[in-house]
Amino acid sequence: MDLDLSADEIAFRDDLRAFIAANLPEEWRGVSDVSSRVDDAVTRQWLDRLAPQGYLTAGWPAAFGGVPKWTPMQQHIFRSELARARAPEVPMMEFGMVAPLVILFGSDEQKARFLPRILSGEDRWGQGFSEPQAGSDLASLRTSARREGDEYVVNGQKIWTTFAHKATMLFCLVRTDPDAARPHAGISMLFIPTDTPGITIRPIWTIEGAHHFNEVFFDDVRVPVSARLGEENKGWDYARALLSFERFGAAALQTTQEILTQIGDLIDADDPLRLDLAALEAEAAALEMYELRTFDGARAGWRLVSNPRS
Ligand SMILES: Cc1cc2nc3c(=O)[nH]c(=O)nc-3n(C[C@H](O)[C@H](O)[C@H](O)COP(=O)(O)OP(=O)(O)OC[C@H]3O[C@@H](n4cnc5c(N)ncnc54)[C@H](O)[C@@H]3O)c2cc1C
Repeated sequence: MDLDLSADEIAFRDDLRAFIAANLPEEWRGVSDVSSRVDDAVTRQWLDRLAPQGYLTAGWPAAFGGVPKWTPMQQHIFRSELARARAPEVPMMEFGMVAPLVILFGSDEQKARFLPRILSGEDRWGQGFSEPQAGSDLASLRTSARREGDEYVVNGQKIWTTFAHKATMLFCLVRTDPDAARPHAGISMLFIPTDTPGITIRPIWTIEGAHHFNEVFFDDVRVPVSARLGEENKGWDYARALLSFERFGAAALQTTQEILTQIGDLIDADDPLRLDLAALEAEAAALEMYELRTFDGARAGWRLVSNPRS
């Protein structure tokens, strides 16, 4: 495994460091440390500084302000440097998941509608996958979408929908063919505005008294067929691609490492908590090695994204 950065990667990192030093005010640092207390207004201002440099649109089509695609190692450097600086977090759901999904599988109309609204922050997205009886066994999901002319009529319930209460849009897995030979084969993905009549969003309060999670109920929700991503009954393929994007950032490893360092600064050298901290640091270091090995594998052509079209 080659962990050394190439000359291009070092130049990319140094440019980014210079940009952060010049553009991230001290008082914006740390606003994403606790996810339930993220300051959305500060995050927006930070995104508005990142966007003109192309830092939010790597791999996007040029027509939407895109710049050439980054390598996985560049993505890693970007996340690491922002985490080191405790910069406001770039929203994973919109930039790390929905945008690449729409670019890969969306219609031209969907790209033109959604990409600019993600960049401007007009749309926030929620992920409507899990259901009360469909978590690990996601393919057993029951939320149904019955075709009526050029509309689907959606009925059912999602759960654990992070930030649905802030979202303007949901991407949802729904069952479009209840008679398919395999449960995975009868699923489609729909893009549904949260203000569509028949949608009810209810908070689930966490043990710490925070509100990230929600239940989302669909009661005869009418969605145009044009709101479907890709082909009918191919939703499982798109979901797998999406989950492979999600895996890139879901662990928020660099942020975790930065927080562990901060905790270390607060604990005395002889405090017994140091042992617990050291164990966590070792776990994080092991995960980091695993990530780096994967990115090094990508240099050698490993396929990191599940894409049924490639
Ligand atoms: C921070 C966070 C954010 C989330 N945000 C979203 C979101 O925005 N949108 C969304 O759709 N979902 C979201 N989820 C939900 C998440 O995807 C589900 O929690 C996950 O799919 C697991 O489902 P479950 O909670 O129903 O657990 P279950 O599937 O009921 O599993 C419970 C336990 O049983 C074990 N288990 C399950 N099946 C088996 C088996 N066959 N053999 C052995 N053991 C088994 C599991 O490993 C687990 O330990 C979020 C979850 C978390 C933690």
